[in-house]
Parts: sequence; C-alpha cells; structure tokens
Amino acid sequence: MAYSYEAPVSQTLFDRASLVTPGGVNSPVRAFQAVGGTPRFMVSGTGPYLTDADGREYVDLVCSWGPMILGHAHPEVVAAVQDAVARGTSFGTPGEGEVALAEEIVARIEPVEQVRLVSSGTEATMSAIRLARGFTGRAKVVKFAGCYHGHVDALLASAGSGVATFGLPDTPGVTGAQAGDTIVLPYNDLEAVRAAFAAQPGEIACVITEASPGNMGVVPPLDGFNAGLKEICAADGALYISDEVMTGFRTSKAGWYGIDGVRPDLMTFGKVMGGGFPAAAFGGRADVMAHLAPAGPVYQAGTLSGNPVATAAGLAQLRLLDDAAYAKVDAVSAELRSLVGEAFTKEGVAHTVSAASNMFSVFFTDEPVRNYEEAKKQEAFRFTAFFHSMLEQGVYLPPSAFESWFVSTAHDAKALERIAAALPAAARAASEATA
Ligand code: PLP
Repeated sequence: MAYSYEAPVSQTLFDRASLVTPGGVNSPVRAFQAVGGTPRFMVSGTGPYLTDADGREYVDLVCSWGPMILGHAHPEVVAAVQDAVARGTSFGTPGEGEVALAEEIVARIEPVEQVRLVSSGTEATMSAIRLARGFTGRAKVVKFAGCYHGHVDALLASAGSGVATFGLPDTPGVTGAQAGDTIVLPYNDLEAVRAAFAAQPGEIACVITEASPGNMGVVPPLDGFNAGLKEICAADGALYISDEVMTGFRTSKAGWYGIDGVRPDLMTFGKVMGGGFPAAAFGGRADVMAHLAPAGPVYQAGTLSGNPVATAAGLAQLRLLDDAAYAKVDAVSAELRSLVGEAFTKEGVAHTVSAASNMFSVFFTDEPVRNYEEAKKQEAFRFTAFFHSMLEQGVYLPPSAFESWFVSTAHDAKALERIAAALPAAARAASEATA
C-alpha cells in the first residue's frame, strides 16, 4: 500500500534506529507493523497534541497507551517533576514521595490495604503471580486468551493456537516449563473457568484477568463475569487478581473496581499512576502482602522502585484526577464515540464501537465481540485504511485494530473538531478498503 504522505525525517530516524535496535523500536507495536508505513518519531507533546520530527502536529488518541490522562506536559505535573529532579533523581533509600503515592492508592481503592511500588506493569503482574503462588503454595495460573499482562514468561501463553489451551508457549524463548502451569481460557466464559477448577481442585494459585480488557480491542466483562471469577476462586482457595494496569485510575477514580465493585485479592497498576514515568504497583489484602520480603519470604525488589521523580509525577497526576476530571474524560470519550459511529454509519461500514467507561475501540464487524476469537473475526484490513487516512489528516490513532483508544482532559472542542473533520474521509477509506 502506498501512502501519499511521507515522513522523511521520521524515516531517516527509523533507518538509523533499525541499525542499532531490533526492528527500530523499543516496544514492538510502535513499529507500525500491523498497519505499515513509517512510524512517526515524536519530538514533543502539549495537551492533546503531539508533534513529530517532520514538524507535523497530530491530535493524540494514544496518550502513551493510557498514562497521559491529563494530556501532555501538564504544567502541574511538569512542575512537580522539575522540583523532584532538582532534589536528586534516585537515592536507593526509602523516601516520602513513595509513602505519599502508596497512601493515595490505598485511599482510592478500598481492597488495596497494602501496596508495593515497582517500575512497570510487567513487573507488577509478574510479582503478583509470584506472590499468589508463594501465598497459596500452588503452581497453576489461569489467564484469558486476548488478555495481556505484560511480557511475563508465564503470561505470554495465549490461546492464539488451539493447542495452547494448556499453556504451550506462544513465543520462542518461553519454555514449556515456564508456561506449563498456565491455563489459558476463553474470556467471558465462566463455564470454562468452572471446568478448569473442577479438573484440578486445590492446584490453581490464582486467576489473573484484565479488570476490563483493552488489549484485544476493548471487550468489557459481561455482567457477573468478574463476580463469578471471584466466587470460583474463593470457593477453591485461589486468589483473584485483577490487572488494572490499563483501567486503574483511568476508568474512574478507583479504576474498574470503582465501576464493578468486585473485590480482588490482589490488583496491579501502572500507566496513569506514573504520570508518564516508570511507576507501577501491585497490592491488595494485607495478609497476602505480608508474605512479601522483607516482611515475609516471597522475594521481590527493584533498584529504581519508588523512584522519587516517578512518584512525584504520579502523585501530582493522581491529585489532579478528581471527579470533575473523570467527568471530562468520560464526556470527551462519549462525544468521540458518537462522532466515530456516525462517520462509519454514514459510509455503510459494519462496525461496533465497544466501550468500557472512557476506554473504547472500533471493531469492524456488527457481530457481538465478547472474546478474542470474536475480536479476530473483524475486518481488520479496514482499520489499516482508516488509520492511514486519519494519520495523514493529523490524527494519531493506535497503530492496530486490537488496541484501545485513549483520551484526556486536554482534548478540548478544537481537538475534537479536528478529529470530526478527518473522520468522513477516513470512514470512506475504510469502506473502500479491500482485504
Ligand atoms: N497489564 C495490562 C492490562 C497492560 O495493558 C499492560 C501494558 O499495556 C501491562 C500489564 C504491562 O505493562 P508495562 O507495559 O508497563 O510493562
């Protein structure tokens, strides 16, 4: 596919990057492989806008894959970071900022009685799984196909191929031993979960699930699904781990827990709580967390855990995220969803705008999407045409049909007008696309 808009400076940077970095990027989806074309190298961000190395400005609907819920370079977050940086960037000792951030998390999310700070969502889920295994003395872990929990060896298994149901590894480098205790089940299917527990009673340490999945596109839990998971886990003595790395502090003040009220044993967080810096966390029941070193025997550590600059950024961002801020993000999302839906309807494109609070994505199908298998049935080729038309017109979407779109409090009327102006041509491109 040829793209009429070229990005010569980004292309030069990508060529340079490809010589020194595998695939030219430090996280695969940034390479645009699902949509083709030149990944845009960004040089700055302000509010809802990003500017690339060719000097083009975009309305940003990725928001760094979730963290930038106040928009880019929010003055109060920047000031908090500058203040922290000026006092030193890492001490390798405890500091007040990490206490304050932990207190903020505990205050917002009732099931989190204690929390441990780490540097990435991957670390958070990896540590939560280790803790669940250490606490229960059991080995097996249940996860759902299409849910992403970071690149933890045991959690990279997915039911992408039928034989993977019992945890055959799905990427080279993950051994059968690492994935062998992972049971992959279809999402939104409580019967499958009941059957797995019935087949191996007393062997499953935990069920880990995205609180509301955003990594196969946005596929919210059906009514009663999370509550059912909790119930099944409790009956067997397994832990229910809710991964809120994406939904936490985004879908409401208390994340997805604030919406469905199902009380997890452990939870994981990242993205928004770091204010654009590497800060993440896992936490939950105090009696479970008490098993973590140095209080207990399950080891977990990090040179940069609770980093003073990252915690200052996260705390500043969380303190700005009051009810009014969530109302704004929800309203922006609702308006955008209706604009997107109208544009596709007008062009006769089969689509579903699937939302979970203010997170949403578009599936190019009008069939229901309740799990990964159904998500994969969409006409993803239409997304490629849509994506490139939007990009050319200055709107930056996630470069994959299987990712959530993210908005921020900074997406004002002007930013929405720009998106609205781009949508008709992009919807037409989607309608004209061929597989
Ligand atoms: N869990 C979920 C639900 C995520 O969406 C992600 C990242 O997208 C992770 C965990 C991993 O977080 P990180 O990329 O910070 O390692």
